[in-house]
Amino acid sequence: MRDTPRADHNVEFVGGSIALDFANTLGGMHSAPTHEHLLEYRDLVDFARGAGTLTLSQARRLVDEASRQPARAAAVLRRAIALRETIWRVFDTLAKSARADPKDLATIHVEELAALRHARYEQTGSGVDYAWSDELPLDRPLWQIARSAADLLKSNDLAHIRECGSATCEWLFIDRSRNHTRKWCDMNDCGNRAKVRRFRQRHRAPKVKASR
Ligand SMILES: [Zn+2]
Repeated sequence: MRDTPRADHNVEFVGGSIALDFANTLGGMHSAPTHEHLLEYRDLVDFARGAGTLTLSQARRLVDEASRQPARAAAVLRRAIALRETIWRVFDTLAKSARADPKDLATIHVEELAALRHARYEQTGSGVDYAWSDELPLDRPLWQIARSAADLLKSNDLAHIRECGSATCEWLFIDRSRNHTRKWCDMNDCGNRAKVRRFRQRHRAPKVKASR
């Protein structure tokens, strides 16, 4: 993934879960990616900002800290990418009704445990939920990603995770459409490309024949 060019657009949040959106920070096929959103530590912070899991002030402090500790920041980024690939493999496998690799499940569990060390229970209006500590170590952006992956593994949404129907896209999403018929990661992107292709096939084929 090292030589994959930087994405020329912002991260798209179409997965329906932070974990899946994180898995979708790579474009093209995971075996042959076309573009990468996570090339430096700052990109990880940007993802967390986009996902709404960091405040602007937290994001700025993390980027400052990363510039003071570049080796540590690089190590967190490597860990983030390893987690992303694990999340993608696990949910892509489960989306295809196959069995996930126990080693991959263990990786998610380890990251979940590492994250929850920084959480405590807090009573909210109607119940109790995790609240995150105010600490700001460099791996802070990973906490909610790991928790999101762990929650998704145990949720009813698991049965509705799909891989995009495009032959050149492996993005994952939760199909929350009423009849569970969503095919594309994004109707404006892969869905539209498929629509344009079908349109061209329908409308071009007879013309080509007629002109010969
Ligand atoms: Zn797609």
